[in-house]
Amino acid sequence: MSVFAGDIMQAKEISLMSVTRFPGHTRAFLKIQDGCDSFCSYCIIPYARGPSRSLPEAEVIKNIVKLNQAGHHEVVLTGIHLGNYGHDLTPQTNLLRVLEAVERQKNVERLRLSSIEVTEISDDLITFMAESKTLCRHLHIPLQSGDSRILALMRRNYDAPFVKSLLYKLHKTAPDIGIGMDVMVGFPGEDEVAFENTRQLIEELPVSYLHVFPYSERPGTRAVDLPGKVEDRDKKRRAEILRTIGKKKRQAFAQLFIGKELSVLVEGEKKNDQDWNKGFSSNYIPVMIERSRVPAANTIVRVVPEFVREGKLYTRHIIREQ
Ligand code: SF4
Repeated sequence: MSVFAGDIMQAKEISLMSVTRFPGHTRAFLKIQDGCDSFCSYCIIPYARGPSRSLPEAEVIKNIVKLNQAGHHEVVLTGIHLGNYGHDLTPQTNLLRVLEAVERQKNVERLRLSSIEVTEISDDLITFMAESKTLCRHLHIPLQSGDSRILALMRRNYDAPFVKSLLYKLHKTAPDIGIGMDVMVGFPGEDEVAFENTRQLIEELPVSYLHVFPYSERPGTRAVDLPGKVEDRDKKRRAEILRTIGKKKRQAFAQLFIGKELSVLVEGEKKNDQDWNKGFSSNYIPVMIERSRVPAANTIVRVVPEFVREGKLYTRHIIREQ
């Protein structure tokens, strides 16, 4: 495979844009890690973005404080391979240490993780998430497939039984956790049996929403040379099947919180929705609050949802402003 990525493979530092405000957005995004060393067979990122590198811990904290002072009550920590955070730093550190420091110092009201690999969700992280007052009980996991043979072809370093046991552990420790998953359909070699294994696994797991996308070839990656290309019409059909499951799961998960108190960060008005302000709960359920009851946009309120429609909770019942 000949891929010319130039000097990016030598990159040692992360470039952080000096953003201290995201006007018009309640949530702020802070990139604390870039690059990846994993070389999954379908992915061009390690060639394009270079090795994993992290923003020093003190810089992470400093930027979270700045964003909070600029009016953001929620900061989303992002990275290409967030679970690898800190492994390149001297002295070495990790994501959990940053989360603990933010919690201890009360730097921001809410902290959220953008996406994390299933192998990087440690027991300590699960316990911390279950007990934390700052870290949102929400994980977004790039599963990609629920079939162990396809996962091996993708060069992912886990199999279906591992995913299953981790998700049950997560659910047992933090039953209200919102778990989203990315799933790729139509990877080379994904026959009907492999797809069915993915479908069954997802159907069974305590997942609250899905992002489904069809595989598309990236020149220069190993997957290009794999046999067993999947027809576009099969990719489309499989994606539809999983999207339908995703909608049902979103609805069923939201339904669990009718009548239960939730903390919601309220966003601004949407021009096309006259009566409701949208917000997100800590466990990432969209919650619509009757506009006349909303104290102000960009506030965290406690609400009791009354009904659910298309995966969104609705309420006129605000208990108090946090
Ligand atoms: S899919 Fe994710 S983990 Fe795999 S190589 Fe790409 S960025 Fe890295």
